[in-house]
Amino acid sequence: MTAQLIDGAALARHWRQRVAERAAALAQRGHRPGLAVILVGDNPASQVYVRNKVKACGETGIHSVLETYPASLGEDALLARIAALNADPAIHGILVQLPLPAHLNAQRVIEAIAPQKDVDGFHVANAGALLVGQPALRPCTPLGCMKMLEHLGRTDLRGQHAVVVGRSNIVGKPMALLLLQAGATVTICHSGTADLARHTRQADILVAAVGKPRMIGADMVKPGAVVLDVGINRLPDGKLCGDVDFDAVREVAGWITPVPGGVGPMTIAMLLLNTVEAAERARSSCASI
Ligand code: NDP
Repeated sequence: MTAQLIDGAALARHWRQRVAERAAALAQRGHRPGLAVILVGDNPASQVYVRNKVKACGETGIHSVLETYPASLGEDALLARIAALNADPAIHGILVQLPLPAHLNAQRVIEAIAPQKDVDGFHVANAGALLVGQPALRPCTPLGCMKMLEHLGRTDLRGQHAVVVGRSNIVGKPMALLLLQAGATVTICHSGTADLARHTRQADILVAAVGKPRMIGADMVKPGAVVLDVGINRLPDGKLCGDVDFDAVREVAGWITPVPGGVGPMTIAMLLLNTVEAAERARSSCASI
């Protein structure tokens, strides 16, 4: 059996369309959603990511501001810019592209963003809200993975075993919490996990978020499983690949995301969705004053 492809690019187009409709409805009432993207330094991958995010805003009717600073930018200056954007009523979402240069404390910078404008969902207030199941802005990549599962009709995950490989604050942990919230029984694996394959073979839903090219082989996957590959790895020949050995695993899995064209496009679509939601909430809180 060959797995069915989960076409992240097509699903992302669907979500962008919905975002564009909601952005247009807000703009008609004089409340155009706005996203500020801050890039510090000249990391080439980050430059590509921010360019794609800004372009995606333009295509969906979201006003965007790109602020680029040299790697030498001091932390006080960055915090002052964030404070100004927090106070700017035309800006509903603020994104600081990671990684930051080593002299900047990423956690302190993220905590400076007003939680209601934290469209990456990394602020500790939003992470805490996710932990206790309160509504808040959710991290874009795990949210995109959940939308993919919903697209497959998997909204109620009771009785399903989900295994997440990776426990970062931006992907693995929030992914596990969202799966838990949807009713799945969740295992989180990491670099200290013994006999990784024993765990991954249990997974009805397997999420790989490690950053190691093709580390998940066919012998690590349960037949018929849904496999979501978050990893983005650049090979020596310049091509991109995921954490899953796609050609081998697609012969075992029931559903699988490709890299590129899987989780990546959904991450950007969810950033747009979070921005429009932040703008809608800002508008309704203005209206209720
Ligand atoms: P991190 O490096 O922050 O986390 C990697 C995780 O993998 C860690 O928890 C680490 O464990 C775990 N790990 C490392 N080696 C092993 C191993 N041999 N077995 C089991 N677990 C292991 O990465 P991110 O979470 O930020 O990103 C993961 C991948 O996803 C990267 O390739 C990144 O580029 C990609 N990514 C893709 C996005 C998209 O839009 N598609 C968005 C964000 C990231 P430990 O905690 O013990 O160190």
